[in-house]
Amino acid sequence: MIGKTRPCLQSRRSFIRKALWGAGVFAASEMVMSGKTPGSAKPEIAASMFPWDLADEGLDQVLDNLREMAGANSVYLCNLSEEVRPFRGGEFTHNPVRKTYIAEDCRVYWPPDPKYYGRIKPLRTQRDFLAGTDWVGEFAKAARAQGMKAGVELFHGFIDRPRLEGPFRDSMQVDIFGHPVLTHNYNKPAACLNSPDFQEYAVGLFSDLAANYDLDYIQTCMIPYVLPGSFLEHNLPPDPIGWALAAPEKGGCFCAHCLEAAGRHDFDLAAARPELLILARQDQQAVLDSGITAKDYLGTHPVLKRWLDFRCESVNSLYGLIGSRIQTLQPGIDLRWNNYIRTHGYYSGIDLPTFMNHLGSIRANAFVEHEDDMALVDEKVQYLHNFNKIVAGRLHWVASIDIRGKNPQVLERSAEVSSYTGCNGYALSHYGEAALENLRAVKRGLRKSKWAEYFN
Ligand SMILES: [Zn+2]
Repeated sequence: MIGKTRPCLQSRRSFIRKALWGAGVFAASEMVMSGKTPGSAKPEIAASMFPWDLADEGLDQVLDNLREMAGANSVYLCNLSEEVRPFRGGEFTHNPVRKTYIAEDCRVYWPPDPKYYGRIKPLRTQRDFLAGTDWVGEFAKAARAQGMKAGVELFHGFIDRPRLEGPFRDSMQVDIFGHPVLTHNYNKPAACLNSPDFQEYAVGLFSDLAANYDLDYIQTCMIPYVLPGSFLEHNLPPDPIGWALAAPEKGGCFCAHCLEAAGRHDFDLAAARPELLILARQDQQAVLDSGITAKDYLGTHPVLKRWLDFRCESVNSLYGLIGSRIQTLQPGIDLRWNNYIRTHGYYSGIDLPTFMNHLGSIRANAFVEHEDDMALVDEKVQYLHNFNKIVAGRLHWVASIDIRGKNPQVLERSAEVSSYTGCNGYALSHYGEAALENLRAVKRGLRKSKWAEYFN
């Protein structure tokens, strides 16, 4: 087993490295704001992987492939996942050990430092081939040796189902009808962001990583407030009642922790609940058919607007805690948000203009490459242009690219044209499920991108 690195190991070398990276980002953002072509700023080409990829193929081999084939200069290791892999079915194409993998529910792949946790503690992997190795420590060390940025991603749910439905049931989100809130992607309970136990656990995970590992960034895709799956699949106009409040087993949260937290935000949630319940029970289709806009609807029902704002305030409070804690433990470390909802994130508790105050960078999620539809690449580019209008000049941001597609030509074009949207680089997802030919397609696209000088 590999021993952990020292706590608070922020070295002068890594501080300078991060400061220089930040300066480059700032310069790029300045150029975007001034309308000049920011062609001289070197992009971050990040790529994600899972511990079983490393165990099966070899850590150095995986990093070599990403660096040489795809031009990656930044890598991050995913923790707390819970899916069958490959995510969309099929089999791994270059894993020499296995064709598929079923991940344990919300496990970490490093030895947690108990001093950062309270009632809820992280569960470490128990799989024989993964247990006993400090994958985050080994990963960060190997990335450094190859001159790459190193990061960790904390996935969606954070807590495994058996414990959230069992001993930590008091930390589950509850909808306005009194039912547990279930996530859109796994149909498992969602944890409440205002639960003191959950907050301690979440802050603890980030703190543990920041204190004990030499990381450039910690990325997270923690689901704040759940929306119906249909919202994520279709770019529909906003539906304030249906999305955020009335969808069965969605629309958290009305738990005791939230009633208490609302008071600290000068919002009487207990008093608002009966009025919100009337809205939740009305004929939603009739409201939609009336043609009223979301903005006008919220203006007509300020209690709903106040409740939605409170959810955003809850998210901001938690990330404010996380951000300030990790900066204390490792100054310069970057808190990166995976912005997985493309539009109308407000209805999931994300108010980007204020949320950005607590972040270091953003991964703009916009997977289209797996669809084998070139027209979707153009649509994605338009989305990224619009996203840039919100974040340009404020944060470093990278555009996601789904390298698990079947058509390398789509990937090549996306890697070329997405570079002109104002982004500061890409995030390639996920190595183990991508054909190696797809990595080469990304490199070909980069060679035709505005960053061509760095990849020829
Ligand atoms: Zn709650």
